Amino acid sequence: MPSAAGYAAQSATTPLAPFSFERREPGPHDVLIDILYCGVCHSDLHTARGEWEGVMFPSVPGHEVIGRVSRTGAHVTRFKEGDMVGVGCMVDSCQRCDACHDGLEQYCENGFTGTYNGPEQGTGANTYGGYSDKITVREEFVLRLPDGLDPAAAAPLLCAGITTYSPLRHWKVGPGQKVGVVGLGGLGHMGVKLAHAMGARVVLFTTSPDKAEDAKRLGADEVVISRDPEAMAARKNSLDFILNTVAAPHDLDAYLALLKRDGAMVLVGAPASPHPSPAVFNLIMKRRQIAGSLIGGIPETQEMLDFCARHGIVSDIEIIPIQQINDAYERMLKGDVKYRFVIDMASLKDAA
Ligand code: NAP
Ligand code: ZN
Repeated sequence: MPSAAGYAAQSATTPLAPFSFERREPGPHDVLIDILYCGVCHSDLHTARGEWEGVMFPSVPGHEVIGRVSRTGAHVTRFKEGDMVGVGCMVDSCQRCDACHDGLEQYCENGFTGTYNGPEQGTGANTYGGYSDKITVREEFVLRLPDGLDPAAAAPLLCAGITTYSPLRHWKVGPGQKVGVVGLGGLGHMGVKLAHAMGARVVLFTTSPDKAEDAKRLGADEVVISRDPEAMAARKNSLDFILNTVAAPHDLDAYLALLKRDGAMVLVGAPASPHPSPAVFNLIMKRRQIAGSLIGGIPETQEMLDFCARHGIVSDIEIIPIQQINDAYERMLKGDVKYRFVIDMASLKDAA
């Protein structure tokens, strides 16, 4: 079996540290990938620190993977050795249920298998993610990296990109609409770029005044400091749609009040503890909606990558060696990342 090197958290209270393990020998439908880059998602931090229920340790996070195919199983048809590919948040699903048939594997009725934290189909075993030098993945869950996208800056598209693209598409965001994006982190900055590329007018809500200029460069038409009550009040009843990416519990009413009649706020941020319950009157008086959305299916992830290639969209990244991952988590918690850390996996060969 291919032996792999990576970084793992051994428990919720231990920092990530070097970890050796074995990958599955590629079966007839599997692809073995040499990992070149892996983005650092806030979900990695929630998981490595045991903030969500059901975390399996040791935990090797990482689900924004870009790499090169090093070997393919005998029945693999879509990839060959040397291809540049991506792997996102899923590596398997039941492939039989209605959701899987609809290409919505993230909503697999029997539970998808995460790139990390499993559970593996059938066995329920843990899976190890992209903070490592190689990974074996069944062909159906491997994405093609379109030509023209920088591989390091494309890595975050595999989670931050698809998680924002999917709800923008599902709620049919486009020209003539005013769209709010809440939080300018990894997801938020992709949401701004994608909503702008889809033709919407974008209003970015941030707690960090120093991000205002960047937000405009990234595609926001307006920037609102969400801690400024007057600026918030001035936007009441003005937005068609809000994409809320905030990773911490907060007052949802402040944003619901900004939606027009029939407007929707979609929550993609997944804080460890619940938001305070919103006021029902804020919803019923204007038939407003609150919804949630989970990453995106495999066909839509490929569609998103192709959309990004057509529009020249990648993530704004800061490349780090894997030895800096624990510091990067601390900086992410302070909102001090512009706007996604990406691990250069060549650094795994350096001394710990
Ligand atoms: P991130 O880079 O840390 O960005 C989160 C942003 O939220 C911060 O940059 C900050 O933006 C804002 N924020 C943080 N704490 C806040 C607070 N207390 N009050 C107000 N704003 C705050 O995180 P990310 O990687 O984008 O992930 C965001 C969330 O989405 C995480 O919970 C993650 O687990 C979740 N997620 C969900 C899915 C899904 O499928 N639904 C997929 C991936 C990730 P400002 O400085 O601009 O205020
Ligand atoms: Zn993620």
